[in-house]
Amino acid sequence: MIHVLVAGAGPVGLTAALALARRGFRVTVLESGADLAAESRASTFHPPTLEMLDELGVGGELHERGLLSPTFAYRDRAEGLVARLDLAVLAGDTRFPYRLQCEQSKLTPILREHLLRHDGCEIRYDWHLAAVTQIGDTVTARSSDGQVAEGSWLIGADGAHSSTRRAIGVEFEGITYPERFLVASVDEELTGWLPDLASVNYVFDPVEWCVLLRTPDHWRVLLPTPSETPDDVEYARLDARLRGVFDPGRPWRIAHASMYRVHQRVAASFRAGRVLLAGDAAHVNNPLGGLGMNSGIHDAVAYADALATGDPAAVEAAATHRRRVALDYVQSVSHQNYERLRATDPAARAAHLDSLRAVAADPARARASLLRSSMIASLRPVGA
Ligand SMILES: Cc1cc2nc3c(=O)[nH]c(=O)nc-3n(C[C@H](O)[C@H](O)[C@H](O)COP(=O)(O)OP(=O)(O)OC[C@H]3O[C@@H](n4cnc5c(N)ncnc54)[C@H](O)[C@@H]3O)c2cc1C
Repeated sequence: MIHVLVAGAGPVGLTAALALARRGFRVTVLESGADLAAESRASTFHPPTLEMLDELGVGGELHERGLLSPTFAYRDRAEGLVARLDLAVLAGDTRFPYRLQCEQSKLTPILREHLLRHDGCEIRYDWHLAAVTQIGDTVTARSSDGQVAEGSWLIGADGAHSSTRRAIGVEFEGITYPERFLVASVDEELTGWLPDLASVNYVFDPVEWCVLLRTPDHWRVLLPTPSETPDDVEYARLDARLRGVFDPGRPWRIAHASMYRVHQRVAASFRAGRVLLAGDAAHVNNPLGGLGMNSGIHDAVAYADALATGDPAAVEAAATHRRRVALDYVQSVSHQNYERLRATDPAARAAHLDSLRAVAADPARARASLLRSSMIASLRPVGA
């Protein structure tokens, strides 16, 4: 039985592990944490990701924990609803013509449970990968406290600060955005406050754009935040900023908030010998459009399919193809989403809002737009 090491028990590493286990590989997942991460990060699953997870046998349980989101909306802070796109026009393209809103921390325990049903598959916690060597057909991973694991392949899915990527000496090329993103999860029901809300809403504004999105547990508000102001100053003015979105005449009930820097970066190569990079270890992008985790899950399944062929050329082709998708598709769509949300030129803004209304009103144009935003077009040819 071929043994594959996977660094990182995030959504990408565990998807790779389960996909490999189902194809007959023995898999050892090496995770630096004492348990799976519980933090609230990605929360949108796109249709092709739902197809893949369903094929891995975890789709039903994920659906039980998530919220179906058949539409998403573009809004303007001043004008309200601009356009609502309905994924029902994708009914001929996918079995899942909707987004599923569900935190990634609800997916990972499901993947783990399914993985551990496979003989020979295990997760080692408190195992911080620090070094990688390759001799012949064997990859050896070493932890920071001297433990050793050997396999025929290593998939590095150990996140944006990937030790695997560093160990194989691959550059992480790209840019960092000038502002940070602040995400507040709130115990408020926004549908009672703002009319025509969808579960995911991209809100245009020349001064302060934002995103409002529903998860099973909370509404989340994402706000751009200056790069250099002290964190405590930003948290102190968060309520005032939320009241700019809607003022209930009292402070918003904020469950938690976090701030982070946003990068657009792609690894110079996704493969070095028998080591592959997947997910955030290979590419990071802004969260607008919800492409990061989704495209990482697509990497994981593509690698499992390629490794199952037993042909190193197929593995090389998968790594090259997934890097092209990251560069030409994920980076491009997410950066375009960012530029459009923050556009300040009144004529450009008006033209963009008009084009969104026109797309939403025309099923053929809506389908073409949704094939791209839902990532279907990054995975397979789509007919007219
Ligand atoms: C606020 C926010 C919102 C987001 N929203 C979305 C969204 O809606 N849709 C979307 O698609 N994406 C979204 N993303 C991006 C998404 O969260 C990431 O793309 C996703 O987590 C990547 O999964 P991963 O498994 O590659 O990495 P991670 O989730 O970072 O997992 C990496 C794992 O590796 C472990 N690890 C780290 N270093 C080591 C080491 N040296 N040795 C062993 N293990 C190690 C970590 O403990 C962790 O368990 C969002 C991100 C943020 C911050």
